[in-house]
Amino acid sequence: MICPNCEYEYVDGVKVCADCGADLIPTESFEGNLLHPSDWIVIGTFSEMYEAEMYKANLSGAGIDSIFFTKKDRNFPLSGSWETIKLLVKKPDANDAMEIINDIKNRTPEENTGERPDENE
Ligand SMILES: [Zn+2]
Repeated sequence: MICPNCEYEYVDGVKVCADCGADLIPTESFEGNLLHPSDWIVIGTFSEMYEAEMYKANLSGAGIDSIFFTKKDRNFPLSGSWETIKLLVKKPDANDAMEIINDIKNRTPEENTGERPDENE
């Protein structure tokens, strides 16, 4: 288990980071970032998992590996379970990934409900 804030690994059984109080995440969820922290870069944060998965799918379609992980932010006690989802890609892919993400963001949200905008296959 790993703290997504501090990037410290804890033994199994520990559920909360002793330093910052964040919920720990399974090691495999954090694997890419842990193994090669300097190779991965956060290209976006999302509050909705479906949104993060949508971007991940689009990146995957473009041949770009990406990973994401979530943390519950204890700085928002009133909302209960405020989640932040970080999407990471390898640094060499960052520029391409940002283009894809910006392209998606430039589409109006309404378009996502009905017909799909043109996609690059
Ligand atoms: Zn921590």
